[in-house]
Amino acid sequence: MKIDEKTAREWLKYSEQYDAYYDGKTMTWIERRCEDPSCEFCSTRPIRPVLPDQEESLVNQIKSLEKQLQSAQYRIIELEQQIYGSK
Ligand SMILES: [Zn+2]
Repeated sequence: MKIDEKTAREWLKYSEQYDAYYDGKTMTWIERRCEDPSCEFCSTRPIRPVLPDQEESLVNQIKSLEKQLQSAQYRIIELEQQIYGSK
């Protein structure tokens, strides 16, 4: 598969915490860990770029979006009843 530069740039993310680039689409590190076991970045780097606290915040975002979606669906039903329901 050929990837154009724009797409590549959108996918390419940088983690300041671990001083390493990762692929934001597949959530995998692009840079390998260095060989230095005392390296403060690589020794603590997780297997995947998503950190537990980020994961939690993503889960919360999803929950809040689901609530918004639900209330939007209720609103649609209300509006439909207003338009078509009471004749
Ligand atoms: Zn390192």
